[in-house]
Amino acid sequence: MCFGVRDAIALASETAKQEPLTILGDLVHNETVLAALRSRGIRVAQQPADVSTQTVMVTAHGTSERAIHETRGRGLNVLEATCPLVHVAHRSLARLVREGFHPVIIGKREHVEVRGLTGDLDKFDVVLDAEDVAGLRERPRFGIVSQTTQPIDRVRQLVQLMRERFPQSEVRFIDTVCQPTKQRQNAAMELAQKCDVVVVIGGAHSNNTHELVKTCSRFCARVHHVQTAGDLRATWFTGLETVGITAGTSTPDEVINAVEQWLSQSKVSRPRATVSGALF
Ligand code: SF4
Repeated sequence: MCFGVRDAIALASETAKQEPLTILGDLVHNETVLAALRSRGIRVAQQPADVSTQTVMVTAHGTSERAIHETRGRGLNVLEATCPLVHVAHRSLARLVREGFHPVIIGKREHVEVRGLTGDLDKFDVVLDAEDVAGLRERPRFGIVSQTTQPIDRVRQLVQLMRERFPQSEVRFIDTVCQPTKQRQNAAMELAQKCDVVVVIGGAHSNNTHELVKTCSRFCARVHHVQTAGDLRATWFTGLETVGITAGTSTPDEVINAVEQWLSQSKVSRPRATVSGALF
């Protein structure tokens, strides 16, 4: 689990001991973590209007100043668990806008982090693939940042594509992909090349887990995405020698350990399980 998610969970848990707490949106896209938070009495609301406690927490993915202002306007106390590296993305984008660049965010339009990044902007574009870049209209200056959990290779390709498509424009890129995401992606690439099968552990809606699945699939023909050890199937490993394990940044250690234990005790193969998270 990355430090941003770990710190946000710790803040929520500590605060909930003192007073009732509602988290605005999913703190992480991992059902195991969310269930543990609910068991501590922590509520989750998708809109400020649905909050029934005095204190509300913004998730590690952050939100816009406008949304914080609106929430405070309802008389609620706002606790920010925004990851410092998400703050870096916000500050980088604000600087580009201040300097007169048209803002472009590489990421998923509906992702909570991207909505937070764009929430204070009147004009902006969000791109995720070459088709999106083809649909952009020319501007004299483009300022690009990325959602923190996008694979850096794809981000660089899209920046290059923008430079090729708009040779007359000034295209400035600030790399806001976070270090834990880059390290994990690199570790996953290395791992997938050495393994017969890779198990990627993470929430069904976790962006960085999906990206890890895609990355591993480029180097290994057998990649399985599981949320917990309960999703593992013995037939996936029959006759295979080496099993790799990697996990999204919001996957709790106990879930990873349970998968590793299942594989180690499995009679269907002789796994030499490797956890890519151990590489950084
Ligand atoms: S994935 Fe990166 S940006 Fe997101 S919470 Fe973790 S460290 Fe922060």
